[in-house]
Amino acid sequence: MPSQPRIFRPGGSRTRAAARRAYDATRRERHAWRAWYGLARWHRIRARQLRDHPLCAECDRQGRITPATVCDHVERHGGDEEKFWAGPFQSLCKPCHDQTKQAEEAAARRAAPRPREGGGASKV
Ligand SMILES: [Zn+2]
Repeated sequence: MPSQPRIFRPGGSRTRAAARRAYDATRRERHAWRAWYGLARWHRIRARQLRDHPLCAECDRQGRITPATVCDHVERHGGDEEKFWAGPFQSLCKPCHDQTKQAEEAAARRAAPRPREGGGASKV
């Protein structure tokens, strides 16, 4: 029982699902470092950081006392293995991490945009 009209695509064009799979594969490849957050090595680093510095550094700078839950890379590592594992790190609460750091990273991306690469998605 068809509930939607059929979709006609130009020959060779990708379906929505195929485009999604290609996007996910590119993202996995480009952000392979995300998996490092799941490693025991990272969990040890994070636990030590939060044990040694249990309060949010950003809140502290603003005169607030807030428990930290995020072990944050002070310098953007951008997938650099050395920076990722060696730090330096700071403890942040989640709101500070999400707001402050994401804004900084967005500003850094605008300042130095990465070259657009196809990642295997474009075939000409
Ligand atoms: Zn905070």
